[in-house]
Amino acid sequence: MRKIENCMKVVEEDIRVIPKFTRSSYYPLVVKKGHGSIVEDADGNKYIDFLSSAAVLNVGSCHPKVVQAIIDQTKELIHYTPGYMYLEEQVDLAKKLITITPGKYKKKVAFGLSGSDALDGVIKLARAYTGRNKIISFTQSYHGSTYGAISVSTVSLNMRRKIGPLLPDIFHANYPDCYRCVFGKNEENCNLECLEQLKINFKSFLPPEEVGGIIVEPIAGDAGLVIPPQKYMDELYNVCKENKILFISDEVQQGFGRTGKWFGIENYNIVPDIIAMGKGIASGMPLSAIAGRDKIMKSLEDPAHLFTMSGNPITCKAALATIQVIEEENLLEYTRKTGAYVKESFLKMKDKYSIIGDVRGLGLSIGVDLIKNKETKERNYEAAAKICYRCWEKGLILTFFANSVLRIQPPLNITKKEIDTALEIIEEAMTEYLNGNIPDKVLEVAKGW
Ligand code: PMP
Repeated sequence: MRKIENCMKVVEEDIRVIPKFTRSSYYPLVVKKGHGSIVEDADGNKYIDFLSSAAVLNVGSCHPKVVQAIIDQTKELIHYTPGYMYLEEQVDLAKKLITITPGKYKKKVAFGLSGSDALDGVIKLARAYTGRNKIISFTQSYHGSTYGAISVSTVSLNMRRKIGPLLPDIFHANYPDCYRCVFGKNEENCNLECLEQLKINFKSFLPPEEVGGIIVEPIAGDAGLVIPPQKYMDELYNVCKENKILFISDEVQQGFGRTGKWFGIENYNIVPDIIAMGKGIASGMPLSAIAGRDKIMKSLEDPAHLFTMSGNPITCKAALATIQVIEEENLLEYTRKTGAYVKESFLKMKDKYSIIGDVRGLGLSIGVDLIKNKETKERNYEAAAKICYRCWEKGLILTFFANSVLRIQPPLNITKKEIDTALEIIEEAMTEYLNGNIPDKVLEVAKGW
């Protein structure tokens, strides 16, 4: 019988001193150590990591090259504010990001501390550059929890409740959710009705010449890894170009190799005007970045988007090491290969288990959508919550979002053996769920989001 005494002690104390609004809970896992794709808890129990700290640990936990880069930099300089002075490490990282982000045009890069502040920055830039205040984001989007970022996010009611007025002049268009198409269409009879609605809006209440930017996730991550079809993205891009609206890709979750390309939008062969980055950029060091066309990046007055701590040299060195590891270990190709294998394995499970309604993904960003009924596609929160909880008991970190979608986002360098063990655990947990062997009390803890 595995022990979780130390974990439970920390969780009890956490509840006393840390507010609940800082977390979506799944199970009482107190993380103590992490190496590669293995995480250890406060009682010494080990887990295979299918979450990568929410798509942050793309090169795994504590990659030796990232650790060394952090140690070396810490001995020289922890921080000196780039708000007033200059840091060579930022210049080196900016140069590198300019080469790996899509778009061969002249660019500049601004740094921050979290995906959320990067989204605030892109809103400021879109407004400043175009002189147009209206911004469009999508249904099912999540862009962060600062006031700007939450104003363009639509995925969680609780995150928008009780906090008063959000940013004005934000509008939302329909994200193309082909599995649960709100227009009742399928692949054969789809005429991009979701995008048609935006065009109707442009003619009825939303003057396109007042819209500065459209902010889109290449895959709607926290909405349950919803993947838009190519024709939707092509047409969205055309709409932007026709109306001189900036096309802004939020790559916070899908960037840095997650989809098997450096950035998610590259899967669509689209070159955005601005790219927001975060999460995987620095393997867990707090860093975000905005890359944009030079002329766009000149549109804000100084110091319009400055943070005392942004782009601290340790985070920049960690980012440079992370990018180097992705290159040296050929992780883009490896991710495409292992991603295809994992997706195929879930598709095989889908044939066996009727609770799996949909399996979708690019690279190692895969969603397994659990349903109650094949016809209605009603979300199966209970199955998702119970299966994830049981996986944790069996030694796998697995979470779900959108109430029903298992989130498969392991480190990109996870081994085939680790993947196979994780898949076996998931299948066992699924069988135990279907046999009624996971108690309801699990639902009091495994809330997810
Ligand atoms: N954009 C996307 C697409 C995200 O998935 C997230 C985080 N889930 C954010 C922005 C916000 O990033 P952070 O939590 O680092 O502020």
